[in-house]
Amino acid sequence: PSGLPRKPDWIRVKAPTSKAYNETRALMRSLKLNTVCEEAACPNIGECWSQKHATVMILGDTCTRACAFCNVKTGMPGKVDAAEPGHVAEAAARMGLQHIVITSVDRDDLPDGGASQFVKVISELRRQTPETTIEILTPDFRNKMDRAVEMIVEAGPDVYNHNLETVPRLYPTIRPGARYYHSLRLLDKVKQLSPTIFTKSGLMVGLGETPLELHQVFDDMRSAGVDFLTVGQYLQPTPRHAKVMEFVTPATFNTYAAVARSKGFLLVAASPLTRSSYHAGRDFAEMQAR
Ligand code: SF4
Ligand code: SF4
Repeated sequence: PSGLPRKPDWIRVKAPTSKAYNETRALMRSLKLNTVCEEAACPNIGECWSQKHATVMILGDTCTRACAFCNVKTGMPGKVDAAEPGHVAEAAARMGLQHIVITSVDRDDLPDGGASQFVKVISELRRQTPETTIEILTPDFRNKMDRAVEMIVEAGPDVYNHNLETVPRLYPTIRPGARYYHSLRLLDKVKQLSPTIFTKSGLMVGLGETPLELHQVFDDMRSAGVDFLTVGQYLQPTPRHAKVMEFVTPATFNTYAAVARSKGFLLVAASPLTRSSYHAGRDFAEMQAR
């Protein structure tokens, strides 16, 4: 009935119903915060929200770009909410988060691409919840990248994530507003500016990429010093979005993970339902304890 192809049995998701789920939802509403969990129609929302793990999406719910895989709405975004950094920190404090993931829509309309809002959010979190580790997932900031990355690195997040999303050959159709080497350069720049910040990147599979192309991207990421890798199955959010070319089997995900580990990533998460923020706090804490 959804007009989308049937998903294989290994993509099973629990219905989002639990007390903690409802509390997370109510808290986000009351603080006027958007989450990528909802906006991107993430299949893990039932599990994550039941465990009080959510990814906050700052700078509004409207993006200036229109990637072919993404469910976030496109258009002219509204004004930046000055109360947002305080609200994010309040949500982290009230949920008792050990780790928080902050992302944003692309704001190509703003003079700094939204970098200063990331800086304010990080500062507020450090002030209100100093124990919480902070992971940010940023846009590519296009021609404002150098300055934006300098500002954000200066603010000192624990993990800096920027997703390459797919192999370079598929950029023109899947990520038309972005450039592969620009994104790679962003990751490299973070590492150059601050070797102690962990860098992270992620890929969707099932878009028509080949294993060899993926292995090349793993190598490119390692050359840019990327520490953590996530690989997950692309799911088509609506009939208007890019089609799934293949449902990659769990066995193939395991092979991708083994190849990636052999290339030296500190953390690799690869499974059909892996998303860049899925289990991010748990995996990060485990790695730090090693
Ligand atoms: Fe939200 Fe990430 Fe969990 Fe999806 S995987 S529900 S985006 S925290
Ligand atoms: Fe979605 Fe990010 Fe692309 Fe905007 S830039 S459409 S939020 S993936």
